[in-house]
Amino acid sequence: MSDALVRLSKIRKTYGALVALDDIDLKIEQGQFVVLLGPSGSGKTTLLSILGGFVTPTSGEVLINGEDQTSTPPARRPTVTVFQDYALFPHMSVRDNVGFGLAMRKVARAERRSRADAILETVGLEGLGERRIQQLSGGQRQRVALARAIVVEPSVLLLDEPLGALDLKIRRQMQEELVELQRRIETTFVHVTHDQEEAMHIADVIVVMNHGRIEDIGSPERVYLQPKSLFAATFMGDTNILNGQVAGVSGKTAKLETSVGPLVADGAAEAGNIVHLSIRPEQLRLGKAPGHGNVPLGKVRVTSAVFQGANRLCHAVSTSDPEIRWIIRQPPQTGIALDDVLEISAKQTDIVMLRD
Ligand code: ADP
Ligand code: MG
Repeated sequence: MSDALVRLSKIRKTYGALVALDDIDLKIEQGQFVVLLGPSGSGKTTLLSILGGFVTPTSGEVLINGEDQTSTPPARRPTVTVFQDYALFPHMSVRDNVGFGLAMRKVARAERRSRADAILETVGLEGLGERRIQQLSGGQRQRVALARAIVVEPSVLLLDEPLGALDLKIRRQMQEELVELQRRIETTFVHVTHDQEEAMHIADVIVVMNHGRIEDIGSPERVYLQPKSLFAATFMGDTNILNGQVAGVSGKTAKLETSVGPLVADGAAEAGNIVHLSIRPEQLRLGKAPGHGNVPLGKVRVTSAVFQGANRLCHAVSTSDPEIRWIIRQPPQTGIALDDVLEISAKQTDIVMLRD
């Protein structure tokens, strides 16, 4: 038996020949902020809808609080969903929107009012209870949608791209607020986004999805630094991918043939395997490789160098093969200029070897 708040096992969802979700196993613990991250069409909304009860899986099981909820309708689950378009009632006041779920649960008017007002304060909309929805900004509408969801005190709050309609600045601000709110109310959040930066900002656990499958799952730090798949490595921000073939293995280290020459990398592989090395732009080191534990990656010629305030972002090509392109991120004070020829290397422990 498991004490996880939510457990999905062997979830599969098909629409005719289309496989929207395939073999999804997922465990969510009480109080976690979980982010489903993936490109459009990867199955995020379908998975969230299966959690919320709006979609029934073709096969597999949904357990919430240890109970089988696979076929339980949305209103009878301990979940609430915030949709991307908020689905607010435009003709009702803010307070009545927020109190709607309580009215459905037959909570008396006076209590509805006081609970709605308390929640409006929680989301920073104190005193706006009388307003109409049309009189609110995008960010305020977002807060009303959140207030309406959390006022019924769900075990799990499901959010489908809730910040998608907001412009960048408000989006970043709302990300901070969401995290703060989640800490305060200690409710489990499952949040869908296709924005990797957003996922990194808010998640305790990131679930990387692609083609209806989970590619990787873990803390933002682990998924970024030690991704489990080529897709997870490339979707979680900029990275350099160097292809190679395993020439031999000794212990946990593989000898590889790559387009920048022979090198070694850590990880499980067998001779003959095609592998991909992922090296983050900020992990590349400039200058002659300082010996043990450092893997030389050859010489590159700088094709662009842009000062970005917090860092200097460069593009470069290998001198041995201009088809091999590099993204290099260094501290802003690093002097790198167009057409510089530099030796690059990376710490062996920073290089992630991924199977084909
Ligand atoms: P995401 O939210 O990651 O963009 P979705 O979960 O909405 O992805 O969709 C996953 C796949 O399932 C897509 O190929 C989509 O077209 C398909 N799909 C989703 N809902 C339906 C439906 N009701 N009928 C047919 N196909 C659907
Ligand atoms: Mg979607």
